[in-house]
This record gives sequence, C-alpha cells and structure tokens, in this order.
Amino acid sequence: MKTFTQNLLCALVLCTTITNAQTVVDTYGNLTVNGNRVTSETGEEISLAGMSLFWSIAGDVTNFYNAQTVNHLADDWKISVIRAAMGVNESWDGGNGYADGAVGRQYNLDRVEPIIQAAIDKGIYVIVDWHSHDAENYLTEAKEFFGYISDKYGDNDHILYEIYNEPINQSWADIKTYAEEVIAVIRANDPDNLIIVGTPFYSQRVDQASQNPITAYSNIAYTLHFYAASHTGDGPGSLRDNARKAMSTTDGYNGIALFVTEWGTVEASGNGGFNETESNTWINFMKDNGISHANWTVGDKNESSCVVNNGMGVTGLVNGQLTPSGVYVRGKILEQAVTLSIEDLTLAGKEVKVYPVPFKDTLKISSTIHIDSVVLTDMSGKEVFAKETNEMNPSITIPDLVTGNYILSIISNGEMANTVITKIK
Ligand code: MG
Repeated sequence: MKTFTQNLLCALVLCTTITNAQTVVDTYGNLTVNGNRVTSETGEEISLAGMSLFWSIAGDVTNFYNAQTVNHLADDWKISVIRAAMGVNESWDGGNGYADGAVGRQYNLDRVEPIIQAAIDKGIYVIVDWHSHDAENYLTEAKEFFGYISDKYGDNDHILYEIYNEPINQSWADIKTYAEEVIAVIRANDPDNLIIVGTPFYSQRVDQASQNPITAYSNIAYTLHFYAASHTGDGPGSLRDNARKAMSTTDGYNGIALFVTEWGTVEASGNGGFNETESNTWINFMKDNGISHANWTVGDKNESSCVVNNGMGVTGLVNGQLTPSGVYVRGKILEQAVTLSIEDLTLAGKEVKVYPVPFKDTLKISSTIHIDSVVLTDMSGKEVFAKETNEMNPSITIPDLVTGNYILSIISNGEMANTVITKIK
C-alpha cells in the first residue's frame, strides 16, 4: 500500500485524470436484457427513473408534447427516460388518434417526433408507446408506425419501442401473436434496441407472459403497470407477487425482464388520493429488482396523477407549480438520478469509471483492468479507507464515513489515478 505522500506525488507527477460530462445514454448505451433484468449495454444493473407524458390525443394537454417539456424534465428533474404515450384510436378534447386517417397520423407524429428528437438531443431514453387497449385491432397501423420509427431512429440507442400499452381482456397468446408481427417489422430495421411488450389485464399479469415468453426475437422486456394506492400488498395475486413470479425461473416461469413504463402514486383511475407510503414501497421494490420506471403523468388535467397544477401548462411545469404527487415524484427521481453521475479516469492507458459521484453508501469502480487497491484519504492527508482487491469492478461500501470531500486513489500494477470525490448523506 502506498502512503499518502506517494499518492500525492503520483497525483502531481505521473497520473492523468480526466473528467467527462456524459449523458445517460452515453453512459449506459443500448439497453440490453440479461436474464430477468434490463441492464446497460455492458450488463450493469440499472433502474432508470423518468416520466410518461399524458395521452397524445387529449387535445387539452398535448401542449406538453414539445422540447421545452423534455429539456426541463431532463435538466431540473434529472429524468433518464421520457415516454411519449401515443393514442391510437381514442380521441377527446379536440385531439386525433393515430389511426384517424392521414390527419390523425400527422397530428400524432407532430407531437411524438419532437419528443424523440429532444430526448436524443438531451441524451436520455425515450419510450415510443403505442398507447392502446386493443392494439390487435390496429395491427396494420402499428406495423406502419413502428416500421417508420425504427427506420428513421433505430440507430439511436435512445429509442425504446413499447408496442402495446395495456391489453385488457386479451389472452397472452393473442397478445404474443400481435407482438411477434410488430417485432418482425422493427427487427428488419433495427436489430438491437429494447422492445417492451404489454401483458394481460392492464399490463398487470407479467406472470402469464413469463410462462410462455417470446423466444423468436431477442432483447424483449415486458410491461408491468401499477397504481400505488390501488395495488398494495405482497400476498398471492398481488402485483408484486406477479412480478416476483415473472422474474423467477421455477414452477414454469422463465425469468423475464420487466419495465414499468407507467406507474402512479394514486388510484388506478389516475385519480384519488396520492399515497406516499405505498409509493415508497413500490419504488424500493423497483430499485431492489433493477426495474426501470416512468411515472404517469406529465400533464395539468384535473387528475391527481398529473404532476402540474390544473390548467398551468408547460409554464407551470417550468415554474414548479406542481401537485403533491408532482413534488413527491420529482424528489424520488432526483434521488435516483445520483447514480447517473459518472467520473472517467485514465489508468494505465485504460478508462476507469467511478460512480456514483457524489456517492452515499457505496462507490463503484468499473474498468477493463485489474484494480489492486482503492484508497480514500481525507483532505488533511489522513488515510480513512483502504481495500485490496483483485477485481476489474470493485465496489466499496462505507455508510459510516463522514460526509465531505475525499481523494480517491485507484491503483493498478504500480500505476495510480486520483480524483476528489464527495460523500453525501
Ligand atoms: Mg439499434
């Protein structure tokens, strides 16, 4: 183990430290299913936190479908994923569904494409959602739409295809048949981006999908939707029980990966009371199980699931005029966003990633070389932590360390990289 003086000498004379600002998509790459998890491209477990827009066909809230909304949510809320919920056949308040002929198609492309482009520009993921309760009745339109989107945007790792929002009473067999037809069209243009498939009964029966998952194509995840005030408990038949079964590989289940493309802090109607306790339980469940999620919903309707106060529009969002659910969800997304800050170092000519910065309890190191040891020194020069490792991806857990700034030294084969990192509460 080198002394602090040796560390300091190395820091001053021998070592190069580079810090890069990376976007979320730069960091995680093409989201990839590994067993029962949606992971980063390199297989790292993640739980992305973001927001879903309201139905694109509700004319009174479609003014949220613009770059200003995405930019604010990315900059101020630190969302890593945004969902464009594109309505297919319903329409109200002067809106149009995608299946309403050429006018409806253009109406929705004019709303969805600016969201896609803004997400790409901001370096966050975008879920392109076929927001329908009977998508199998619009198979022709779904193939046309996803063919167009995958051809135009499929080279971007940002794009996640959600091909059937919420079936209701359709069987899993019928949903699977629909899904395989749409997936074939997407895969002809885009061999690798994540595709997310809805599951029976409002995307609550992920267990049924797990008994007979799609095997003809790869990189497929399955949709789980919940509303915290309605879907409580862990007993048999509860939604968390369904999720656990779906992710398991016993009793006929095949360990599928889940993505919560929509969840609410309120009742399943999108209204009713905001339930903080049950929302916390769900958020911890998703974090513990590496499940990414988008909250319903970005809008200012008179519904308690909306994050913006009634009638305040995008200006209300930007000015922080938020509902109780909006205040809560923003805080939770910000908490999870900490894990998205990564510092890049160079050691022995190789990239070494350190994250999250700042860190709370655990600091992770990711590299392609063996790390011999990790040392933390306080700003007065006192060594406060040292660990010998022989791993490429060591992590250190030090919850009791006093908050503040430290010099982190990572040592490999006699070379060292140093950087200042911050421990937070
Ligand atoms: Mg691709």
